[in-house]
Amino acid sequence: MEESRHGTVKSLMNQSSHRQFIKASDASAWVMCFRRIWFDKHQPMAESEPDAFTQFLFQAGLAHETAILEKIAQQYPVCRAKSVDHTVDLMRQGVPVIYQARLVDAEVGLIGYPDFLIRDDNGIYQAADAKLSLSENKKTTQIQLGIYRRLLKNDLPAMVYLGDGRVAQLSGDDIDVLVDRFIHSMQTILADSQPPIVRYSYSRCEVCPYVNRCLPEFIRKEDPSLLYGVDGNMADQLAQINISTIPQLAHSNVESIPDVPHLKSEKKKNRIILQARSYLTGKLFQLDKIDLPEGTWIHFDIEDDPMTGSRNRHVYLWGFLIPSYAKSCFDYVWSDDESADYVGWISFLQKIELYRNHYAPIVIAHYSNHEKSTIQKYAERYSMFNNSTVSWLLGEESPLFDLQRPILNSLVLPLQRYGLKDICKHPGLVNFQWENDESGSQWSVVQFKRFQSEKRLSAKGSIKEAILNYNRDDVIATRRLELWLRELSLNSPK
Ligand code: SF4
Repeated sequence: MEESRHGTVKSLMNQSSHRQFIKASDASAWVMCFRRIWFDKHQPMAESEPDAFTQFLFQAGLAHETAILEKIAQQYPVCRAKSVDHTVDLMRQGVPVIYQARLVDAEVGLIGYPDFLIRDDNGIYQAADAKLSLSENKKTTQIQLGIYRRLLKNDLPAMVYLGDGRVAQLSGDDIDVLVDRFIHSMQTILADSQPPIVRYSYSRCEVCPYVNRCLPEFIRKEDPSLLYGVDGNMADQLAQINISTIPQLAHSNVESIPDVPHLKSEKKKNRIILQARSYLTGKLFQLDKIDLPEGTWIHFDIEDDPMTGSRNRHVYLWGFLIPSYAKSCFDYVWSDDESADYVGWISFLQKIELYRNHYAPIVIAHYSNHEKSTIQKYAERYSMFNNSTVSWLLGEESPLFDLQRPILNSLVLPLQRYGLKDICKHPGLVNFQWENDESGSQWSVVQFKRFQSEKRLSAKGSIKEAILNYNRDDVIATRRLELWLRELSLNSPK
């Protein structure tokens, strides 16, 4: 625990007879889920080894902080604080910059560890953090920096050194209101002897260390928020009309569900009822005819790196599966680093032209909107909206086809999430398995970073091969999905 490294904070906590402090860093768990922060404070998990992607982000964050520290140190003398008392001492001495400051308000029960305290011309200290994020408007950042300002008890805005090189200033009434809400809510959470009741959320719970404590309870309660398409707000609204469980929803009909915010259309109501039935029975429901475009299909998937020097996402792999769709029909454009970004993009466009001429008419199938929006971003990055290949890809006659569309329009599946892997791996659906079970988009980014830092050529080659194999399996998966949909479409309602 961070507090145990700092004697004074520890003694303050002991003095206040087990009273728990609110840390600025609690904001990230609080923003995610009130129950998660309750567990952190009352029944924390034993610390476990973070996964490779989290470790990578941590290292990248540390490197960013070090880079900012070096930059500041070129301009001002910097002293590293060793404790709360030492921070106070350094402030009294008027040290220009205090690194890793420790601030405490024992009365309110607040602790904050700003990366930097920077003294202005009037001798007042301003808190600053280094964040890899590109935006200062994240709730977590606003609360953390707002807490530092409370602890410093002055009117100076707090600063954040962002991942794209910008330095943003944070202050204002909105942030003060948010900080008040955080402190009051945290005081309630600290005082509660029971964890707060919340709804399930796949994206939040999947990555939460407490999922094994919560999920069995959600399943036992048959909570409707377990269903795809039913979020916490919708589950609360359904509970108000006495639909509190998945079986109750499964036995409802469209007419019996009144219009509530975000649940007004007949189609949406029908979908969630069928989703509840699918959850209980494991059955697939087909709502509509499945329409697939005509042409020669080419399957397409990209791997991109969000953690580049410029912070522009760099596509290091543009992958394709072309006819006759065997493993050996995997084709790709690869670039080793961001300096080859433009060459990779142009090679991608050339490949598209090659396929266009060779297989016309073509359908370029991908899963979800990411590939199309990435092409849009590249067109913007290189001012190429007038390029004939780009305008064809993004125009009205675009060959790009998002395979997720017919699924969301026509099918209700026994799944909590409609990702490519969820659908393809399910033994009762597509039943396609990736060769490397651990692979995924985050895995790919971590491997690409390893590829970039690896000096030995043979090890570099092996890493690249593993990434290529993963991407090849992704495009084979979309091919299998296409075939599965074609089979279903034969039985589509006329
Ligand atoms: S598993 Fe979900 S509900 Fe439980 S604490 Fe974590 S985020 Fe909250």
